[in-house]
Amino acid sequence: MQIEKKDIRALSKEQLREFFTANGDKAFRGNQVYEWLWSKVAHSFEDMTNVSKETRTMLQANFVINHIKVDTMQRSEDGTVKNAVRLHDGLVVESVLIPTNTRTTACVSSQVGCSLDCNFCATARLKRMRNLEPAEIYDQVVAIDKESRLYYNHPLSNIVFMGMGEPLMNYNNVLKAIEMIISPEGLGMSPKRIMVSTSGVPKMIKKLADDDVKFKLAVSLHSAIDEIRSRIMPFSTNFPLADLRESLEYWYKKTKSKISYEYVVWKDINDNKESIDALVKFCKYVPCKVNLIEYNPIDDGEFQQASDESINEYIKALEASGIVVKVRRSRGKDIDAACGQLANKEA
Ligand code: SAH
Repeated sequence: MQIEKKDIRALSKEQLREFFTANGDKAFRGNQVYEWLWSKVAHSFEDMTNVSKETRTMLQANFVINHIKVDTMQRSEDGTVKNAVRLHDGLVVESVLIPTNTRTTACVSSQVGCSLDCNFCATARLKRMRNLEPAEIYDQVVAIDKESRLYYNHPLSNIVFMGMGEPLMNYNNVLKAIEMIISPEGLGMSPKRIMVSTSGVPKMIKKLADDDVKFKLAVSLHSAIDEIRSRIMPFSTNFPLADLRESLEYWYKKTKSKISYEYVVWKDINDNKESIDALVKFCKYVPCKVNLIEYNPIDDGEFQQASDESINEYIKALEASGIVVKVRRSRGKDIDAACGQLANKEA
């Protein structure tokens, strides 16, 4: 029986060093190979030119390097790029490059499908197939960085974990990927340019604070009233807003980092005064800003974008309370690359 070879990028640097000493080589060889794997993103052992042929053959016999492959790349008329990314086992996730005048942002996936069940999100209709490995998240960023240089002549400036999946339900792998993205041995990006978005898993938000992470946190709030929130995001029945609030207070106390709330205003769902008042109240608990996201229709019309007047009511009320609020227009809608539209349609 053929034993499946292990992905070498599942090994930490220390484990790689140990592998070499256990095989009668110098630990330092582990550092060299590690550099090839992460900072130089080698796709094969053959690429590792400062490693002897003998060592390369030995690595080849023991390991594989699982790489993602960008299957199809679509470009929107607004410049947004969407990659359909094929994983080594054939599954597909999507990632997006969003250019503005001053920056390019990568929107990456953390799971194949999603563990949660937000009724307004296309990704939720795919069942969660599996978590992404740290290297699979890292590779999405590398691929988008390349596209950013190619199409926009500068390196990637920001990363948001707002693609497919719930990052905090794949906690360890997301944190490992970010560790490599910010490490000088990886991409050397500043953690301040990375934002992890969660639908709100209180226990995991507290864990982030305990782990002293340096990246930013966004929460997909959509309603500050339990009854409405659990109707549109059924999983949240298990995570009442009181618990979410407590975890966010804990986060802020430890990190002193402001929270961003993502919020869509829908017709006949949260376009009413009680919802506005509840949001304004919720925003006073922890320093924050609010992003009002445009709704991207995914189906038969159960959810519809609220009127401009309703959105203006939100803006007025938030600003009157001194809360920073931005309206986020959709990007990449024509290629199904906008928020909540990632659903592997092409795969
Ligand atoms: N699971 C994480 C990461 C996904 S981020 C989270 O929920 O935060 C994707 C963002 O797009 C979330 O804020 C989500 O609430 C929002 N979204 C989902 N479907 C959408 C839709 N159809 N239109 C606009 N925004 C949507």
